[in-house]
Amino acid sequence: DPVVLWFRQDLRLADQAALVAAAGEGPVVPVYVLDDEAPGDWRIGGAQRWWLHHSLAALAAALDEKGVRLILRRGDAADEVAKLADEVGATRVHALHHYEPWWQSAETALGKRVDLCLHEGTRLAPPDRIRTGSGGRYRMFTAFWRALKEQMPPPRPVPAPDRIGTVARPPKSDRLADWDLLPTKPDWAGGFSVWTPGEAGALEALDDFLPKIDDYDVARNLPSQEGTSRFSPHLHHGELSPATVWHAVSKADARHAEPFLRELAWRDFTGNIIDQFADYADSNGRAAYDKMPWRAGKEADADFTAWTKGRTGYPIVDAGMRQLWATGWMHNRVRMIAASFVIKHLLIDWRRGEAWYWDALVDADFGNNAVNWQWVAGTGIDSNPFGRMMAPLVQSPKFDAGDYIREWVPELADVGDDAIHDPHGAGKAPAGYPAPLIGHREARARALDAAAKVR
Ligand code: FAD
Repeated sequence: DPVVLWFRQDLRLADQAALVAAAGEGPVVPVYVLDDEAPGDWRIGGAQRWWLHHSLAALAAALDEKGVRLILRRGDAADEVAKLADEVGATRVHALHHYEPWWQSAETALGKRVDLCLHEGTRLAPPDRIRTGSGGRYRMFTAFWRALKEQMPPPRPVPAPDRIGTVARPPKSDRLADWDLLPTKPDWAGGFSVWTPGEAGALEALDDFLPKIDDYDVARNLPSQEGTSRFSPHLHHGELSPATVWHAVSKADARHAEPFLRELAWRDFTGNIIDQFADYADSNGRAAYDKMPWRAGKEADADFTAWTKGRTGYPIVDAGMRQLWATGWMHNRVRMIAASFVIKHLLIDWRRGEAWYWDALVDADFGNNAVNWQWVAGTGIDSNPFGRMMAPLVQSPKFDAGDYIREWVPELADVGDDAIHDPHGAGKAPAGYPAPLIGHREARARALDAAAKVR
């Protein structure tokens, strides 16, 4: 009998346990369902749709080379997969296990209608397998990482099967172009050309990064350098398996591999948090912050808009927000500074910032985004205290962001090192570059006042 292979954020053929199992059983009918209902507010965002379009095209082409047609359907994912199984006379569906709450619900729903076989492979280890001595779950990263490491390495990646059997007459499929995933406004094609979505592009990124691993620990904090891997959109879409990354990176000397693997493990940690707290992207990890008097109204809206457009008057923040808009990605150090700025300097609810990143990032990821926003906000279970505000004017020179600013804020392209981090403060702001929305000291006092109401 035919078997259905259900693709989600695992758009690859290598190290794809569900594909291996399906190919071993019968003719395979692979399907991807675009589900804009089940995830609610976390339906795939704007920048990510661009990525998804190209990644699906790459996956369809790779399957095509093996003589297999990728079927595209749109609607409630569980329902569509069950209907497809029915159409082709399959009783069994293979898929990788995903931990986003809507995927867990879809798995439960689908499991009631077909024989659903779930395989691991989206994380270094399944989150519920990382347990404390007494069998509980971890809430803090450091302890989680220690426990995860004991279960490493992950299983060796398996290659794509040589042969995939297929059905004589494939069922009907939507046309990718009809999904309108590519935005026409803004036209992102320019800045996004730095990316190559799809499995082949992911493996290229892996090759490009491996020689840089020795410098990662230092370079990863310097936005002016390309010191990080840029795997995040590939990992999010599952074009590269975390086990593949682990094994490739572990070939480097342990002293150099460890700092990178520790960051990679954050992805598993966020999976562990959302597996325990399904509403983590929507509600404060620390309930006391429900009382936080966030700013709202016209003035706050205007400040928020200035932040999204990279016009706050803080060059490091503005450079980050403009890099995000132009390329769908932002350097991690700057993600933290920009997030801290909108939450603490502008005193705007972290959920608004989270939503902006969600729409603008090509790597927007339910767990990674929510856990990092709550970490920066101080509202999270494991987080930086709210009172610890990142000072953009201190961070910017500390991490040598001058060239990064000159690249992303063209008005400041000719500003020298003496003024680049704070052109207004230095009295050298070119015409057209906005004055700071609020001074650091004033913002700090306002934020601490607000936080006092929480206790
Ligand atoms: P590298 O430094 O090369 O790290 C390798 C991989 O490890 C990354 O691709 C990522 O999968 C994982 N990783 C690294 N740092 C983190 C981290 N702090 N948390 C979770 N995983 C991590 N990352 C996302 O993938 N999606 C998001 O939506 C997202 N939102 C964020 C929001 C905020 C406010 C902040 C501060 C961080 C966010 N991050 C998010 C985490 C991090 O910034 C990115 O994963 C990283 O910048 C991606 O670049 P890279 O692949 O070059 O990272």
